[in-house]
Amino acid sequence: MHLVNLKDSTQQVSFKEAVKTGLGRQQGLFFVESLEPLADLDSVLALPLAERSKVILGHLIGDEFSPEQLGELIDNAFTFPAPVTQVSEHIHTLELFHGPTLAFKDFGGRFMAQCLTDISQGAPVTILTATSGDTGAAVAHAFHGIDNINVVILFPKGKISPLQEKLFTTLGGNIHTVAVDGDFDACQAMVKDAFDDEQMRNELHLNSANSINISRLLAQVCYYFEAYSQLDEQARKELVISVPSGNFGNLTAGLIAKALGLPIKRFIAATNLNDTVPRYLEEGEWSPKDTIATLSNAMDVSRPNNWPRIEAMIEKGIIDKDILTGMAIDEDCTQMAMKQLQALGYTSEPHAALAYRSLCKSLQDGETGLFLGTAHPAKFRESVENILGEPLALPQALADVAGKNSFAVEKPADYAIIKQHMFDLLKK
Ligand SMILES: *Cc1c(COP(=O)(O)O)cnc(C)c1O
Repeated sequence: MHLVNLKDSTQQVSFKEAVKTGLGRQQGLFFVESLEPLADLDSVLALPLAERSKVILGHLIGDEFSPEQLGELIDNAFTFPAPVTQVSEHIHTLELFHGPTLAFKDFGGRFMAQCLTDISQGAPVTILTATSGDTGAAVAHAFHGIDNINVVILFPKGKISPLQEKLFTTLGGNIHTVAVDGDFDACQAMVKDAFDDEQMRNELHLNSANSINISRLLAQVCYYFEAYSQLDEQARKELVISVPSGNFGNLTAGLIAKALGLPIKRFIAATNLNDTVPRYLEEGEWSPKDTIATLSNAMDVSRPNNWPRIEAMIEKGIIDKDILTGMAIDEDCTQMAMKQLQALGYTSEPHAALAYRSLCKSLQDGETGLFLGTAHPAKFRESVENILGEPLALPQALADVAGKNSFAVEKPADYAIIKQHMFDLLKK
């Protein structure tokens, strides 16, 4: 696989190098310059999820792994299903929350952990990542207990749901968690500073596990094919996919799926009040505002770090800008959408609900809508119970961590202090 640094095109790397380095020079993202459509789509669609994913990822990554090696990584990573459920006459949802940490980030996190473990061959690695909730849990679980790999997770203190926090702060061992006195963007900024810091990179062998890591994106491409494979002929005709977006990794993966030939008519980039992208698509001006805390807190991002990849796909003609509609949904509409879904017999949570709401507003005659169910409702139990006025049963994974103690330490949003903390932890 041939990848180019979007900020410095003289830096060109293989898939394995990109997985290992995460970010390129000048904090540039690695990305493809072109994409070849998949041959024989119908037979690819007919395969089961893991087998189909081997074809898709083999096509994207090329011969850097042997087919057997890649197959093993995928079998280890994709151990849970992604079912499509119909919620109304023309609207379906793809449930991406049946993995160990109950959010779609398990797909990318687990595949990345498999790739990185394979690529690093036992050499020490420090995974440094910022999370607005679900990434941290997925990454922590995917790497927990792996020799020679340490994970440091920065998260905004008090800004993610208590149960969600418990999913990754209670593991201990090689998983180190820091509650930062600041918002997600502050955490993300410190991760970027660390990657710019040669001493950190060299001495701690830093690697990022954010959605900027190319392996995560590629893994996510696979479930768009899975969704399509479960839809009937009528639903496939004019399919509109609504993606609840924060850092826009999920949408990037959807656009890659389309570029590989999956016949998706168009996409909705659904956001909460952090509406940098919908405003940009509407007005043509990139003007991030301060991040606002919302019910869909995993999407409280005003400077989405994957956007340059989408921009690059548009510039290079890999996708057409016209297939993208931005839509920002406010807090009242999000709550209303949750209640509407409840009335349809489907319990949802704020992220998926605002993607549903966007479909309701945007869907035209003849189109079928699919919104991504990015997390299990119980991960946002407090707000879901408040809004719907009914108690939610906890799935086993959450019930197990609810009573455990957190190992997280609290730190200010100060890069020098975080750096010192990491050296204290990892350079004893
Ligand atoms: C991470 C996350 C999102 C946003 O995904 P991006 O790829 O960052 O756009 C949406 N919903 C949930 C539940 C998430 O955890």
